[in-house]
Amino acid sequence: MYYRKLGNTGLNVSEISFGTIPVLQGSVPVLPDYFNLDEQEALAVMEHAYRLGCNLYDTAIVPEYGDAEIKLGKFAALVGRDNIVISDKARFFGGGEMYQAVELSCENLGTTPDIYFVHQVDAEHEEEVFGRGGALDALAELKAEGKIRYAGVATHYYDILLRGAQDDRVDVLQGSGNLLERGMLDRVREEPLFRKKGFLVNKVYAAGLLPKHFPVRTLIDFVLSYPVSSALIGLGTKEQVDTAMGWDTKEQRAVSPSFEEVLSVLEKEYAPIPCDRCQRCACPYGTEIHTVFRQYQYFHLGKDYWALKKLGLGIAGSARHCRECAQMPCMDACPRKIRIAQEMQQVERLVRDYPV
Ligand code: SF4
Ligand code: SF4
Repeated sequence: MYYRKLGNTGLNVSEISFGTIPVLQGSVPVLPDYFNLDEQEALAVMEHAYRLGCNLYDTAIVPEYGDAEIKLGKFAALVGRDNIVISDKARFFGGGEMYQAVELSCENLGTTPDIYFVHQVDAEHEEEVFGRGGALDALAELKAEGKIRYAGVATHYYDILLRGAQDDRVDVLQGSGNLLERGMLDRVREEPLFRKKGFLVNKVYAAGLLPKHFPVRTLIDFVLSYPVSSALIGLGTKEQVDTAMGWDTKEQRAVSPSFEEVLSVLEKEYAPIPCDRCQRCACPYGTEIHTVFRQYQYFHLGKDYWALKKLGLGIAGSARHCRECAQMPCMDACPRKIRIAQEMQQVERLVRDYPV
């Protein structure tokens, strides 16, 4: 295992880190793998990763990740609290709620977390999170009180990551990216402001879908070819831990395929939309283009029911707007020159053909 600096925090973290979703028990929707591990089994998987050099474990408040937070607290006590870095989060946007959430997380963990993220920040909640009295102010207060060491923002949106990178209250960012959805990582690499922050990357396997098409080593080394701190992988079995972390460090890094090479592999299965989710396009009617295209790819890559359910929410309206849209500003912004309006019609047909 190699280690990298976590921004300016002074921490060194394993470049492959442990996501605790697959070790949870509880009613949590959209689990990539669900193993239903009891406490003993979960601790054994986490310990296996520890033996391979992992020192960063990421979780979320109960019940966002079921009981994973409680299990991680027990694991920290087992291996020695100071031997691991605990990254925790909660989807609360106001300051009061966030403050209480951290106190509850401390109880669940039986210790204080090192990093605490505002989880899943989106445009709807951005002002509340960053504004006066919002979740970031609460995290700054908790930091001053010694209840957390570092504050973070976790989001799937580039503009919000950039705002976090500009904010002195934020120490660590968590965003998503992989071989297929690499546009945001490309933009992070181009922007020097991100070098000041720790950066964790999730969705490295694209919700478990990409390992059917590409070696895990290629997926992880691709993400680690960017200036980021750690690739966060959800792990639920010792075999998965071995596949993700059990490499000889003397081995050469895997060569990263180009985006075009990735598309040509996927073309054997379906007609991929050549969108890398750079998020440069915007729609005045509010269609989140990159998210619609993501669901299309995920449908064809194997998450059919889940992807269709999400696509069904609003695709008819989006496709209608595209038919009536005269200016099509989204297409001017797209560096890949995707015929977005036409692709929307294709996605609408898909949803019509496979009603959920
Ligand atoms: S073409 Fe469609 S997605 Fe693009 S701006 Fe117009 S309505 Fe929005
Ligand atoms: S449609 Fe084009 S601009 Fe929009 S996210 Fe995809 S690649 Fe980027």
